[in-house]
Amino acid sequence: MKRILFLLTAAMAMLWSCSPNQEKMENRMKEFVSGYEAKIIPLYKESALASWNANITGTDEDWAKSEKASIAFISFFTDTESFAALKEMKESGLVKDPLLARQLELLYNSYLAGQIDTSLISQQVKMETEISKKYMNFRADINGKQLSDNEIEDILRTSTDNAELQAAWEGHKMIGPYVAEDIIRLVKHRNTIARKLGFDNFHQMSLKLSGQDPEEVTKIFDELDELTRDSFTQLKAEIDAYFSKRNNIAVNDLRPWHYQNRYFQEAPAIYTVDFDKYYKDQDPVKLVSEFYAGIGLPVDAILAKSDLYEKPGKNQHAFCTDIDRSGDVRTLDNVRPDANWTGTLLHELGHGVYSYYNDPELPFTLRDAAHTFTTEAIANFFGRLATDPQWMLDMNLIDEKEKEKISDDSRKALRLQQLVFSRWAQVMYRFEKAMYENPDQDLNQLWWEMVQKYQMIAKPDGRNMPDWATKIHVALYPCYYHNYLLGELLASQFYGYLEANAMADPSIVGDTSSGEYFRENVFIPGARYYWNEMIEKATGEKLTAKYYAAQFVE
Ligand SMILES: [Zn+2]
Repeated sequence: MKRILFLLTAAMAMLWSCSPNQEKMENRMKEFVSGYEAKIIPLYKESALASWNANITGTDEDWAKSEKASIAFISFFTDTESFAALKEMKESGLVKDPLLARQLELLYNSYLAGQIDTSLISQQVKMETEISKKYMNFRADINGKQLSDNEIEDILRTSTDNAELQAAWEGHKMIGPYVAEDIIRLVKHRNTIARKLGFDNFHQMSLKLSGQDPEEVTKIFDELDELTRDSFTQLKAEIDAYFSKRNNIAVNDLRPWHYQNRYFQEAPAIYTVDFDKYYKDQDPVKLVSEFYAGIGLPVDAILAKSDLYEKPGKNQHAFCTDIDRSGDVRTLDNVRPDANWTGTLLHELGHGVYSYYNDPELPFTLRDAAHTFTTEAIANFFGRLATDPQWMLDMNLIDEKEKEKISDDSRKALRLQQLVFSRWAQVMYRFEKAMYENPDQDLNQLWWEMVQKYQMIAKPDGRNMPDWATKIHVALYPCYYHNYLLGELLASQFYGYLEANAMADPSIVGDTSSGEYFRENVFIPGARYYWNEMIEKATGEKLTAKYYAAQFVE
């Protein structure tokens, strides 16, 4: 009894003493955050603005400014004292207030990534630059003619001459032996860096520092593989039958050069709907801005600061940027009246509304997307609309009769595109993961195992070449590819949720309840929750592949 009493007193003493310690530690974290914000906000803003300007003017002077500002921003996180303070607070386990704890986690990861020996980093950058130059300077040599990647893609897409197709594909693959050894050295170097920071390898480090658990991601990829395998097998047979006929060759003789793309990452043009003709007399900016206003998420403030049309020297692609996380959101585009640019504008403004409609009450660190793939999901959700016949009908781009006419092919084309991409993303994710786990294994063999298993493409007889090294992402944009697919899965999960809750019916056009749903459940929470917690709160389930399957698998 005495002993129990003693334990009870001890426990009570702990209980009492816990609170002041917690308060002390949380105050320390609050102080850290205010010091951090005072310095990082101006650096962040300057770097975002400088990059924006450089992308518009394209001048060396502006690019130099942008590089300087981004180095200043990145170097901020190399500070060892701040990292030590964060580590101590994290290890104490006493920062329990949810907002402070979440900031602590995110800041700890940012600073941890900055704690790498600068000589190792500059070595890595040097290796990456060398490899990057090799990719840029490489031209495929086809019978003495030097061809660019675009020219190779043109041949693969349009030719029906088997010998020409094979020569184009093989010619392009000659970049492989030219960079493979450099990439293996770089992979090992990245692994060295990861081990110094306490991770098993670079793949694990990349995912963990971005707030993803590799096991959780692999589980979702397994689920998706399971759900898409049969449907893809069936579709692949249709694709093979199509190319067998088109190229006048037996199905068994089809090889990777027959699929109209260097990697079979995009859908071959089997179902063709000419969407451009519905957009050629439209003003995409007006159209898209009316659409967003109609769902209660006006984008006028974003468009007013944006740079929408082609100009000399300007970046020819598209992106969206949040300059200050306080309402200065901009998108860069090169809008033309066609389906592709309307889709791109819908996509970029999806990123835009995610940023613009954030919660101004949240601290700076949390006024951000839950993860890069969650903002990609919102962007994809809206971007898909430009080729959705129901959306086009509701936006008065086509009539009911035209909708009937194109619905079937549109659906098949989208389904083909999604399934082909999903199988390709499986190859990328699993190859990179295995490569970083063991860079000394037979990578040529590993690559073809993945391609045969997931894309169901026949390996050319006796081929033993570093074909994995021909994909620039493997070398220069490592361990990121899976996020594209996770973004697609989540876009479908949002779609499934809206559908089940009688929103966006029959399409999202004019449905303010859909806009309100996204604002309340995705944009306002920002980075307040771990991404899978946000998804569970918003849809009632953690991220799952089943809605993607429901949408694209029959
Ligand atoms: Zn995007």
